[in-house]
Amino acid sequence: MTFDPESRRSEDPCPQCGGLNTLSHDYPEGFSDLECLDCGFRSDAEEIAELARFEGALLERDPSLPIPVKKLTA
Ligand SMILES: [Zn+2]
Repeated sequence: MTFDPESRRSEDPCPQCGGLNTLSHDYPEGFSDLECLDCGFRSDAEEIAELARFEGALLERDPSLPIPVKKLTA
């Protein structure tokens, strides 16, 4: 699974610098975060990193186990 967030202009001011040049990312997983284009603030960045590591751990499971392959149709 890959993250494919919807990004849109946010009305929320940056909690770090108070700037309004912010983007809101809505993830299909059901959470969203705020990114500030001025200072680079990113809410929930650590949480997302944790999630990414979790996904990575799942992918690195025992490679000797047979994994059913489903063909993806675009
Ligand atoms: Zn900011």
